[in-house]
Amino acid sequence: MTGSPTAARQVLTGGTVLTMNARRDLIADAAIVLDGPVIAYVGAASGVRVEPADIRVDCRGLLLMPGLVNAHTHTAMGLYRGLAEDRPRSGWAPARYALPHLERARPEDYYHGALVGAVEMLLNGVTTIADRGGSMDVMAEALDAAGIRAVVAHTLHDIDRPLELERARRVLARWGTDPRARVHAGLGPHAPDTCSDALLRQVRALAGDSGARIYIHCAQSDLELATVRARGYAGAVHCLHGHGILGPDVVAAHCLYLGAGEIALLAATGTWVAHCPASNAKIEARIAPVAAMLAAGVGVALGTDWAPTNNTMDLFDEMKTAGLLGKVAADDAAAIPAARLLEMATVDGARALGLADVCGSLEPGKRADIVALAMDELHLHPWHDVAANLVYAAKGQDVRHVWVDGRRLVRDRRPVHVDTAALREETTRIWRRLGAAPRDPRARG
Ligand SMILES: [Zn+2]
Repeated sequence: MTGSPTAARQVLTGGTVLTMNARRDLIADAAIVLDGPVIAYVGAASGVRVEPADIRVDCRGLLLMPGLVNAHTHTAMGLYRGLAEDRPRSGWAPARYALPHLERARPEDYYHGALVGAVEMLLNGVTTIADRGGSMDVMAEALDAAGIRAVVAHTLHDIDRPLELERARRVLARWGTDPRARVHAGLGPHAPDTCSDALLRQVRALAGDSGARIYIHCAQSDLELATVRARGYAGAVHCLHGHGILGPDVVAAHCLYLGAGEIALLAATGTWVAHCPASNAKIEARIAPVAAMLAAGVGVALGTDWAPTNNTMDLFDEMKTAGLLGKVAADDAAAIPAARLLEMATVDGARALGLADVCGSLEPGKRADIVALAMDELHLHPWHDVAANLVYAAKGQDVRHVWVDGRRLVRDRRPVHVDTAALREETTRIWRRLGAAPRDPRARG
């Protein structure tokens, strides 16, 4: 894998910078100086002298913003895009979230699936992900090769599926839990309905020993709620609370079915919520009570969830969906302002993942995770309101360049270090081996 060299200083000049710093400064005719993987300067272009040895990048016509943070995804499931359409809510129940052919997939298939997911997200301006799934030992290697920033959690269940604690421990040992490492490990218990009480307590103990943060699905389906109630809990959040799982080091994805007192419990414990509105609407026909969560002081980040139920890994889309469905759910057109949605996808996403000092805003000392977005496209004109344009008009396809840790991974909308044609061929080969004819109509006949 090769990227732009990070030894020389890179000077990004002439663009408009949306810092997402505490003052939310917006700087026209700006410069950002990258010293290796770290941001050394953000400010007026006139404040920087470009030296002959510097790599100068002309950013006129571009908006430079922090790379987006996807707080809940399953990269490898990009292989299954389009295979779980229009099922009834209970259609997911019998096999507990199963997808066709999943049982025949090999670990190496997940490597390519994770690579597809990571490259798609980089092209859409997502530079940091909280990824989870089985085969995370293999997937994490792909994410590392893709250059994306990732916290990786191997999924743990012990109800209906074998517990793979040793594999999760191997992921922890391989990647460590230091948030400054571009790829580092978290713990990924699946959900309250697939993890026993004993496993939840074991995960909390392991988090204490390892320093890993905890990533879990929570209250994501009516099936889950019924299962948890049958075990004697009033709700999924109460179940997690009973085993010490809630806390500021926990990201609970979905949180659709919340009962009395559960929003207050999330707020009181400082637990983060990864809100996944597109996926929730598609497979559960439901939206989380985000306006109520925000009013109660719950920290909310955004996630795409997986490709089978979204079907795009585009956080610009996700911001828009969160805004629209959030207004409908709250019966309040003023609910969840665009500026708030932008925070969920940047600074708050970084805080949720324990990366507040690492990324989420463009400030000196932070890692250089930067997205350059074309400002001059007609569908983005004019720029009366930057947040509104980014949330309601922009698309991932508007992203031109992407840097992670100062490495330029996307240049002029092309990944510089991954052969996308070869990747497409490989995933087609995987589907043939799994015994499923590719449904791509071009492959028929
Ligand atoms: Zn999920």
